[in-house]
This record gives sequence, structure tokens and C-alpha cells, in this order.
Amino acid sequence: MATVRASCPTCGDVELTTREVQVQVCSATEEGTYSFLCPNCRLMVNKPAEQRVVELLVSAGVKVVNWDMPAELSEPKCGPTITYDDLLAFHFELESENWFEHVIAGGGPLGSR
Ligand SMILES: [Zn+2]
Repeated sequence: MATVRASCPTCGDVELTTREVQVQVCSATEEGTYSFLCPNCRLMVNKPAEQRVVELLVSAGVKVVNWDMPAELSEPKCGPTITYDDLLAFHFELESENWFEHVIAGGGPLGSR
């Protein structure tokens, strides 16, 4: 198994096995990062990785995970922005006994009962 030398922001250079490193590639932007649990301080370290570094790590046997942007990002946003009052109304709504039935039945604006 190949050894990967990486840098922890706290401990400096650390040596890892390829099994201790993971590469993540975003399917939308193709931007890559790699992450590892520092063997000294046990902090999770995540760093950006250029295409060249991604290819190098993957060819050395590092596991690559492709991830997608959350679908909610491309949803159309309409209606007024949620306010603290809306949040408070939602909180009280959830305290009522039949909040779920109310929501299923169409609900209406929160706190409007
Ligand atoms: Zn460390």
C-alpha cells in the first residue's frame, strides 16, 4: 500500500496510507478535495485538490467519492423570506397536538389559526 504525505494545519506533515485518505469530487463543478483523519491530533482535515492531485491520489489507490449538489439549490425560490416570527409560529404549531393533521389538510399559513 502506498504512503501519502499530507499536511495537518496543527501538526504539520503526517504520513498516511492510501486507505486513510479519501478524495471527493463534485459532479457539478468537478472540483476536488481530499480528507483524512490526522493520526496525531485526530482532527478531520479537508483540503482542496487540483485535478492533478486527484488523479495522483486515485492512481495510488485512494478511494474517490463523487457527490452531487443538493437538488434544493436548483429549486425556484418564491414567496417572502422566512422571518423570526414565522419560525416562532412554526415552533408553536409543532407544540399543538394535531399539527401533523393540520399540515396534511393544507395547513394554511403558520400561526393563522
Ligand atoms: Zn494533526
